[in-house]
Amino acid sequence: MTTFQADPKAPPAKLSDVPSPEGRFGAFGGQYVPETLMAALAQLEQVYESVRQDRDFWDELRGLFATLVGRPTPLYKASRLTAHSAELSRKSGNNGQAATIWLKREDLAHTGAHKINNTLGQALLARRMGKKRIIAETGAGQHGVASATAAAHLGLQCDVYMGSEDVRRQKLNVIRMRMLGARVIEVESGSRTLKDATNEAMRDWMGSVEGTHYIIGSVVGPHPFPMIVRDFQSIIGTEAKAQCLRYMGRLPDSIVACVGGGSNAAGIFYPFVDDSKVQLIGVEAGGRSRSPGQHAATLSMGTPGVLHGTLSYVLQDQNGQTADVHSCSAGLDYPGVGPEHSFWKDSGRVTYTAASDEQALEAFTLLAQTEGIIPALETSHAISEAVRLASTMKADQHVLVCCSGRGDKDVEEASRLIALRNERT
Ligand SMILES: *Cc1c(COP(=O)(O)O)cnc(C)c1O
Repeated sequence: MTTFQADPKAPPAKLSDVPSPEGRFGAFGGQYVPETLMAALAQLEQVYESVRQDRDFWDELRGLFATLVGRPTPLYKASRLTAHSAELSRKSGNNGQAATIWLKREDLAHTGAHKINNTLGQALLARRMGKKRIIAETGAGQHGVASATAAAHLGLQCDVYMGSEDVRRQKLNVIRMRMLGARVIEVESGSRTLKDATNEAMRDWMGSVEGTHYIIGSVVGPHPFPMIVRDFQSIIGTEAKAQCLRYMGRLPDSIVACVGGGSNAAGIFYPFVDDSKVQLIGVEAGGRSRSPGQHAATLSMGTPGVLHGTLSYVLQDQNGQTADVHSCSAGLDYPGVGPEHSFWKDSGRVTYTAASDEQALEAFTLLAQTEGIIPALETSHAISEAVRLASTMKADQHVLVCCSGRGDKDVEEASRLIALRNERT
């Protein structure tokens, strides 16, 4: 297959001008689904096209963002974290300077992560389509909680598929979903994590598509999902851009976000993709090592393939079977990634790197103890890279980090991992 390559000689078409009407981001994306789902995707495309110009729709969503979610979320200057970065610079024999680190506080959004931006948007679309039931897949449980919340707000029935390994790791969120009136369906197949939950949700949708909308939780899946989720999440970057101009007097030098499926990253990156001076960095789950099965660094280590209805980078073996993945954070534990990220990677616009479980755990306690903010384990991957990156930059530069979620759901798992680490050393 051919992958998109930016021609460095020709002025590139605007990078933001995707997907094509066929749902392609360069060569990536598309609709690789069974016949039964094509009609549902066409209906979703149609309803989304119709609301794009519909003021009432966006007014209602903006109203919910303001009153239910608590938007705009703040931009926070992390001074003691920045000082820690400067100290790192000094210790490694450099000039002892660091760029100022700023956090876009999606952890303060209602339900504790950025997921709610997308679920409210899609739940409003479901209502437009006259669908009374929504289903969702969830890894860390954040998308499940956000879907259950949106369903409760609109009086829709909600069923959430969740791998049993994640049910164990994320107990608190399971209780929250049930409290919000949703049904949690435990998935026992495969590695009993996010990929398997997604398989089951897709299977459900094939049989229920008439009255059910499937709220995909990230910028993945068949067209038009990657575009719709990106658009709803772009509120993060749109707000952040205005806040940067206000507080820094200019755009940031670098933006760092963690990448599971890629929705918080797409949300903060997208309003900046045409600002070529702003460096964009996605951080994947480096897990325990670079060996197959020990990480979830799809863009760093994967190859193009089809998973869950879209062509994108995928972690797969020589036979094209989806590989096992591992991450300490349930929300990054996924062998695929959104097609727009594959497009950004191949065009060279975004740089993708990975942080290990160990580095994420270290950043988790670091942010807690320097700033009084306990981040999600997913978010901790971005924090780790931001601290390292800032220590290589100058004091008059700025690094913006998407603080995608809060860590309340992770304190038990993180304590367990920290205890394990202390036993080993
Ligand atoms: C779900 C989740 C992620 C990973 O999903 P993306 O689609 O890559 O954003 C990251 N951080 C938090 C807090 C999450 O809940």
